Amino acid sequence: MSILVVGSVALDRIETPFGSAERALGGAATYFAAAASLFQPVQLVGVVGDDFPTGELAFLEERGADLAGLERARGESFFWSGRYDYDMNTRTTLETRLGVFADFRPRIPPSFRQADWLFLANIDPDLQREVLDQVSAPRLVACDTMNYWIESKRESLLELLGRVDCVLLNDSEARELTGDYNLSRAARWIRERGPSIVVVKKGEHGALLFTETHTFFAPGYPLEEVFDPTGAGDAFAGGFMGWLAYTGNMDEDELCRAMIYGSATGSLVCERMGMERLREVGVEEVHERVRAFRRLTAFDSPVAPVHG
Ligand code: AMP
Repeated sequence: MSILVVGSVALDRIETPFGSAERALGGAATYFAAAASLFQPVQLVGVVGDDFPTGELAFLEERGADLAGLERARGESFFWSGRYDYDMNTRTTLETRLGVFADFRPRIPPSFRQADWLFLANIDPDLQREVLDQVSAPRLVACDTMNYWIESKRESLLELLGRVDCVLLNDSEARELTGDYNLSRAARWIRERGPSIVVVKKGEHGALLFTETHTFFAPGYPLEEVFDPTGAGDAFAGGFMGWLAYTGNMDEDELCRAMIYGSATGSLVCERMGMERLREVGVEEVHERVRAFRRLTAFDSPVAPVHG
């Protein structure tokens, strides 16, 4: 059961207190695909320029990803540059050059239109809706967004929300979108506008899942060394959807497990610069990280209430 992802494929310049990378493979769709393809085949739709080192994506093909939807256009690839200080939860975007991404109109190849699982990575909500017009009937449609679209394309984003099953966004985006500081209320506000599943990511502090009947918390994994959190949100989404697609199930228990798989792939990304860790990781290491999450959070409650 293939997972279709539409979004940015980029070259990134990253600075953290521990190192830097120039023209490193990046992009929301790439991070998502790298994580999701550990579980199920991925179909990727995006655009790169003629400066893009396509060989960098070979590892995705080795994991069964189909790149037939990746256009190559004349011009510069999407370029993003960001800097992190010691608080890795906040980053400064230094530069965004859209290049060929500026004229990107997603065209879903006919062989991708039957995908059961669809992830609309962070792009213009008008384009996210255009993708929805081209696919038949996915079992699950999930989307991401960012503050820029919340501010500049609010109406389009609200229309999109009415057409998706699941939204993954970070805490500041949830607050800005809803105007509510409280994340539980913010998630309810979002659910009332369409999506039955809302995932609020909180960086190193984990992520919350909200459905009609359930709230679940997946912690962030307490790494001793965080090199670079770039792409962690998209890798979270990839692990989350990859697991759901692998099991083919979306009941409450599976959604909770998917949250932990998302936290696992999200944490693995942070261990090295850019895509380095996700590129070489195997699914067994992801399962091992999931087992570590279990040890991290499991405890026995007392048999009887403890007094005094
Ligand atoms: P994350 O850290 O999960 O937000 O993902 C970071 C990735 O998103 C980087 O590899 C960037 O290339 C990509 N990115 C940054 N800004 C944008 C944007 N405005 N639109 C699409 N992708 C972006």
